[in-house]
Amino acid sequence: MIQISQLHKKFGKLVVLDGLDLDIEAGGIFAVLGPNGSGKTTLIKSILGMVIPNSGAIQIDGKSVLKKWEYRNQINYLPQIANFPANLSVKELIAMVKNLRPKESNEKDLIELFGLTPFIDKKLGNLSGGTKQKVNIVLTFMFDSDIIILDEPTTGLDPIALIHLKKIIQQEKAKGKTILITTHIMSFVDEIADEIVFLLDGNIYFKGSIENLKTKTEQTDLEHAIAHLI
Ligand code: ADP
Repeated sequence: MIQISQLHKKFGKLVVLDGLDLDIEAGGIFAVLGPNGSGKTTLIKSILGMVIPNSGAIQIDGKSVLKKWEYRNQINYLPQIANFPANLSVKELIAMVKNLRPKESNEKDLIELFGLTPFIDKKLGNLSGGTKQKVNIVLTFMFDSDIIILDEPTTGLDPIALIHLKKIIQQEKAKGKTILITTHIMSFVDEIADEIVFLLDGNIYFKGSIENLKTKTEQTDLEHAIAHLI
């Protein structure tokens, strides 16, 4: 579903992605792990066409991302930092997003599930971080999409919201969707991820099951890196 070859990205002199190769098959939950600054967000934004790599190729469903910017609209993306307009209400923001992407949406169920009904007329600038993250989740899952990319979706969520998020992700997987998640919460990864993609020093250090990663960790100097995650 997503094929990345020889992806290089530098910010000034800082090499963030150093010839990264990665194949993600369709269907399943892939957790992208790695220490802070290892390039998780840069990788995700490259897939979305939001960061332009220095070189390399990314294909989604056989089409080049660099040539097909419109693909961005077909991927459901939850950004790590949602820069919502502070003066809009939750309702107004959802209406605006629906206008931008006129396709069927199921925001009503999600608003109820995440307990957002009492906040629907409140200005986004007045919401807590956790409540804003719930709005971020509603905006991400209200449309159907074959690829869902979630950058740190658990940030600020209470335990109940975490359970709902986990359930939604698993439901999407059951529908055959491809889901990419970056997260620092190892228990979250443990419970739902089919595969781990571990970034280190600008490349894929490991791709496989969490059990295999743990075995590998015991034997190598990856321990210091994974310590950042737990
Ligand atoms: P992660 O998501 O794994 O924490 P990022 O992809 O956000 O890592 O960042 C990787 C490195 O690239 C960090 O050192 C970060 O400071 C740097 N970086 C990311 N985006 C930019 C940018 N737009 N300009 C300059 N440096 C950046």
